[in-house]
Amino acid sequence: MKYSELVKVYKEIASTSKTLEKTKILAEFLKKLKKEKNKDIIYLLRGKVFPDYDERELGISTQLTIKALNKSTGHSAKEIVKRFKKLGDLGKVAEELVKEKKQKTLSSSKLTCEKILQNLRKLAEITGAGTVERRISLISELLTSSSPLEARYLTRTILGNLRVGIGEGILRDAIVLSCLETKENLEKRFSGLQKSERLKKISAETKENAELVQEAYDKANDFALVFEQACKKKLKDVAISTEKPLKVMLFQKAKDFEEAFKRVGKPAAFEFKYDGFRMLIHKDSKGVRIFTRRLDNVSNQFPDVVFYIKKHVKGRSFILDSEAIGYDPKTKKYKPFQSISQRIKRKYDIEKLVKELPIEVNVFDILYYNGKSLLKEPFKKRRALLRKIIKNKKYHLKLAEQITTSSEKDAEKFFRQAVKEGQEGVMAKNLEAPYKPGSRVGYGVKIKGEENEFDLVIVKAEYGTGKRAGWLTSFTVACKSGDKLLEVGKVSTGLKEKEEMGLSYRGMSKKLKSLIKTEKGREVEIKPKLVVTVTYQNIQKSPKYASGFALRFPRFTRLRPDRSPDDIATLNEIKKEYEATH
Ligand code: AMP
Repeated sequence: MKYSELVKVYKEIASTSKTLEKTKILAEFLKKLKKEKNKDIIYLLRGKVFPDYDERELGISTQLTIKALNKSTGHSAKEIVKRFKKLGDLGKVAEELVKEKKQKTLSSSKLTCEKILQNLRKLAEITGAGTVERRISLISELLTSSSPLEARYLTRTILGNLRVGIGEGILRDAIVLSCLETKENLEKRFSGLQKSERLKKISAETKENAELVQEAYDKANDFALVFEQACKKKLKDVAISTEKPLKVMLFQKAKDFEEAFKRVGKPAAFEFKYDGFRMLIHKDSKGVRIFTRRLDNVSNQFPDVVFYIKKHVKGRSFILDSEAIGYDPKTKKYKPFQSISQRIKRKYDIEKLVKELPIEVNVFDILYYNGKSLLKEPFKKRRALLRKIIKNKKYHLKLAEQITTSSEKDAEKFFRQAVKEGQEGVMAKNLEAPYKPGSRVGYGVKIKGEENEFDLVIVKAEYGTGKRAGWLTSFTVACKSGDKLLEVGKVSTGLKEKEEMGLSYRGMSKKLKSLIKTEKGREVEIKPKLVVTVTYQNIQKSPKYASGFALRFPRFTRLRPDRSPDDIATLNEIKKEYEATH
C-alpha cells in the first residue's frame, strides 16, 4: 500500500476533533486495508511498527534524525536545528526541507507502507559496529523517497510522536465498523421493530461488538491480529498464550465493606492488598518471563523471581498474576512500593540489588495452566489450583493471604491485620467470577484506608526561578476520558530539595527532559508517559481545567514506572469521588 494513502488518513483525522468523525475515517481506511496482504500496516496508524505487546523500540534520537535529514536533504545540521527551534516539531522541519528540495527535483513519491515497516523494524535490530551510519542510511533512504507531507509523518513516527490522535478506543470502534456490523446494517436488521426497541437493540449490539474487539485486544495486544480475526468473524478464537503478555484485570474501588459485598456477592474472598507492583509471570518450555502491567518484560531485573518460580511452583506451563513486595533484608519488615521501584528499571548491578532490596511474590491468580486457558473458570477454582501447585515460602514466593467470609466484621478484622502488616488495605473478590483481562469489571474491588489519591500522567511542566532555576518545579497532571487526556490540576509539592531524601526536583527534571515536546518561555509541554500518584485533600469543580475538576492541595507521593497512561484515573472515577464527597 502506498504511504500516501495512510498520510491522507493522518491528515483527515488530525483535522477533526470529533471522535465519531475520526472513527468513520479510520473505518473507511480499514476497509481498504482488508484487501491488503500485510495487515501490519495497521500499526503505522498509531505511529508504531510492532504490536503493542512487543517491547522493541526504534530508539532513534532527535540528533540522529537530524543527521538523516542532513544526509537526505543536503541542509546543514545547524540549519535544521535552527528551524527546529522555530517550529518545535522536527516533522514540520522535514516537510519544509523536502518541499524545498522537491521543487528542484520534481520526482514523485513511491514510498510504500511495507518499505517503511521493513526499514524501521531494521532500526530496532541493528547493533554493533557502524550502527549509527546504518541507521542514518535506513532513515534517509525513506526520506529521500518521501513527499513533503510524508516526510512530516514519517519523521514523527521515527521519533515516536505521531501526534494524530488515534487511540486504542477509536481504532477498536473502527474495527467494529469495518469488520463487524455497521450502524446501517443494524438499522436494516432491526427495521421491523418499533423505534425505541430498535434503538435499544442497535445500541446493545454495538456495545457488544465493541466489547468483543476489546476483549480480543486485551488478550492479544496486537491490532493486526485482532483486525484479521474480526474480518474473519473469529474474534472469539483469539486466545491467551504464554508467548506474549496480556493486560491484567483491574479493580474498582469500594468505600466500605457493605458496598464491597454488594458488588462482589456473599460470601466473598478477601485478600491483602499488597503495596508493591503487579507481576504477570509466564512459564513454558522456553523458561520464565516476567511482565509488568505495562507489558514490559522485566525478567532480567528479577533473577530471584525466576529462581523462586522454578523452585516453588509445579507445572509445565502457566501464567500467574501476582504482586511483588519489598522487605528489609535485616529486619524482614515489609516496605512500601517506592522503596523497591528502582528494581523495575535497573539494568546493572542486578545481583547486588537483589540482595539489598529483596522482594516477596504474592500470587493471587492463575490464568493459564499446562496448555489450557483458565479465564472462564470461576475464581474459587483458580485459587484451589494455586493452592495445589504452590509451595509457600515466606519472603520468597507464596499465595496471597486470603479469607472467605460473609461477615463485615471478619472482613474488617482482616483489613486491620493487613494495615498492621504495612499493606494498603484489602481486595474483595467475587468467588464465581471469570478473569477478564484489561477491564475494571467489578469482579473485585479494592478497599483502602482514608487517603485520597489518583494515578495521573504529567502533561505539562514549568521551570522554577531563583535557586530552583533550571529545574522543572510545577507540573500539570491529567486524567483520561476515552482516548483523551484531561487536565485536573497543577502539582508543585511533594518533591524534595535533595536527591537522598526521595523523589527530588532534580530527579523529576531529569526524567522529564527527554519527554519535552515543546518549550514556550518557562512552560514546557511533556509527552504523556510519566505516571505519578497524586494525593489531595478534596476535589472541586473548576472551569480552569479541561476535566472540569481541580484537585485541591495536590501532592506527589510516588512515581509509577510500572504503570502506563492507560492505567491512570478516568474522568468518571474523579466525578464519582467528587459526588461521593459533596
Ligand atoms: P490500585 O493500584 O489502587 O488500582 O489497586 C490495584 C492494584 O493492587 C493491582 O493492580 C495490584 O497491583 C495490587 N494488588 C495488591 N494486592 C492484590 C491482590 N491481592 N489482588 C489483586 N491486586 C492486588
